[in-house]
Amino acid sequence: MERIFGRPIVTQEEMRARIKELGKQITADYTGKDFVLVGVLKGAYAFYADLARAIRIPMRVDFLVVTSYGSRAKTSGKVKIVTELTEDISGKDVLLVEDIVDSGLTAQYLIKTLAKQKPRSIKVCTLLSKPERRTVDVTLDYVGFKIPNKYVVGYGLDYQQKYRNLPYLAVLDMEGEQE
Ligand code: 5GP
Repeated sequence: MERIFGRPIVTQEEMRARIKELGKQITADYTGKDFVLVGVLKGAYAFYADLARAIRIPMRVDFLVVTSYGSRAKTSGKVKIVTELTEDISGKDVLLVEDIVDSGLTAQYLIKTLAKQKPRSIKVCTLLSKPERRTVDVTLDYVGFKIPNKYVVGYGLDYQQKYRNLPYLAVLDMEGEQE
């Protein structure tokens, strides 16, 4: 088996505790609403599964599969939706679940695209945010953790499609040095 490396910057315990809090907050904010939780795949899959189970109200689940053009380590901001929603979101309250917001371009593009389907509201919940890297102004309604400008893997996030299954979040050492 390939060696999995990196020291956790967010541990499984920290992740669990924060997701519980987010779930409580989202439950309170969306009680009584026609709620759709939209996951942005692949990156958000682990966060989505845990977050959905921490939300204690009836809801619909749906997913978008997106790919970004260009290198994964550097976000080009050009996003392609390769699989569309299957639910009709018009008139509904949509919460978009992202793995990480970096420049903000992906989130901005997805909000703009989904808004065309006329949801009643659309908000963003991201596990991670790198505020230093933001180039566009996008409102993040729920943020799990703010992190510094480092490339992270694990808990759904990849490097060249690997490391998504790490149960914690680690900084990827591009030099290949392992701890
Ligand atoms: P944005 O459009 O906000 O610049 O970039 C968002 C996307 O870039 C994320 O969904 C993710 O695919 C990728 N990304 C940005 N930073 C990281 C990182 O530190 N690790 C990983 N694995 N992906 C990242």
